[in-house]
Amino acid sequence: MTGDSEQAANDDGKPNQRSATGSGACDDGPVLEKPRPSAISRPQSPQSSFLARPLSVTLDLSRAAAPASAAKPLIELSGLTRPQLVAALTESGVVEHGKARMRATQLFRWMHHRGVTDFAMMTDVAKETRARLAERFTVSRPEVVERQVSKDGTRKWLIRMAPGIEVETVYIPSVGRVGALCVSSQVGCTLNCSFCHTGTQALVRNLTAAEIVAQVQIAKDDLAEWPSDKEDRLLSNIVFMGMGEPLYNLGSVADAIEIISDNEGIGISRRRITVSTSGVVPQLQALGEKTQAMLAISLHATHDALRDELVPLNKKYPLDQLMAGIRAYPGLSNARRVTFEYVMLKGVNDSPDEARALVKLIKGIPAKINLIPFNPWPGTDYQCSDWATIEAFGAILNKAGYSSPIRTPRGRDILAACGQLKSESEKVRASAMRKLSMAAMAGVLDDDEDEAAA
Ligand code: SAH
Ligand code: SF4
Repeated sequence: MTGDSEQAANDDGKPNQRSATGSGACDDGPVLEKPRPSAISRPQSPQSSFLARPLSVTLDLSRAAAPASAAKPLIELSGLTRPQLVAALTESGVVEHGKARMRATQLFRWMHHRGVTDFAMMTDVAKETRARLAERFTVSRPEVVERQVSKDGTRKWLIRMAPGIEVETVYIPSVGRVGALCVSSQVGCTLNCSFCHTGTQALVRNLTAAEIVAQVQIAKDDLAEWPSDKEDRLLSNIVFMGMGEPLYNLGSVADAIEIISDNEGIGISRRRITVSTSGVVPQLQALGEKTQAMLAISLHATHDALRDELVPLNKKYPLDQLMAGIRAYPGLSNARRVTFEYVMLKGVNDSPDEARALVKLIKGIPAKINLIPFNPWPGTDYQCSDWATIEAFGAILNKAGYSSPIRTPRGRDILAACGQLKSESEKVRASAMRKLSMAAMAGVLDDDEDEAAA
């Protein structure tokens, strides 16, 4: 049970009115590699930030009705775990039963260690077998519709998963030789967090494991990270903080994590994979048991009345249940702390009293807190807290012994090149938010670095 059945309707019973065109990454001085097709629209706030809210997904419904191909669709192999790969090869009859395990290992290494996208390149597989594999299967990538690069090294890809379904994935470099990839788990989201801008959306679907893995593979293609055991890798961490609620797609998320973390493939340790959830309490245990991933909780409030408003899922799983679920999360320890995400909303949840309440609420839980500056969007009544307020909030957490993600930012060059900003004052505000966003994500990375150093 992955919780998929729960996502057909909103948890607060309201019809889903989310849009798949909600967010856009910060476009500070991007290098646009490929023009966007005019059919794709993606509204962007001048103050948008790739870290401050989920990544965008664009639905192009005009294309969804394209006539189906008569040919039998090829099965994508890169989304299969190793046992699934063995089964698929055996069932296809292309590979003899006795050789399926060996062939699966070969194919897995070609796909995830070498990153090849063509059976013809799998030189240790007989030519005839390669041809037969290509008749039934594929190891291709979805199309990259657009690629953007900021001056600080941040990269963003708009990926077309299927006709009319496009997802954004962002690579965030950090200090040193590490960087995180922010991936999406769903197209849209069935939940209705009041500060999360996704507008109006009729269609929601889970991404498949192959579509999640493809986000990582595309980033690795672009970062020249093949073979996967290459020295000085740039992609060290994966965060499920893009679009969607990962725990409503746990089956595919868990399969993708199994594939991504496999040492014979991409080999990103499960300790460097973080799954962020708004608090689907019944799935927390399964997440820990199936994935051994690091846990991030979108908390945002310290009492039920406010959290009900900000994260309506709280009405179903209130704070006492959520905190009990977190405390029971498998493998939680000082070396494997939970990350609490806390969006800073001016006058709503940013007082010193709230900070003290937060310290009290999480007492005893090995944790760190990422303060996320609110990213405003057209029509919202929320505002981002002032810089000084966020710092004061962070100072209280620091004093209580919790790691603070607010630190001196880097990438000043791109802050000065905010192409979409209309005025100097907007530029300054956006720069401040961008700094905090970068710092928040750096919190995830630095924690891993601490662990590595320990
Ligand atoms: N759905 C999952 C993961 C994706 S959201 C979750 O909610 O945890 C990733 C993070 O961005 C979450 O902490 C979410 O609360 C936050 N977020 C969403 N909209 C935001 C906004 N407008 N400004 C700042 N943070 C936002
Ligand atoms: Fe946005 Fe995450 Fe809430 Fe979904 S669960 S609405 S992605 S913040």
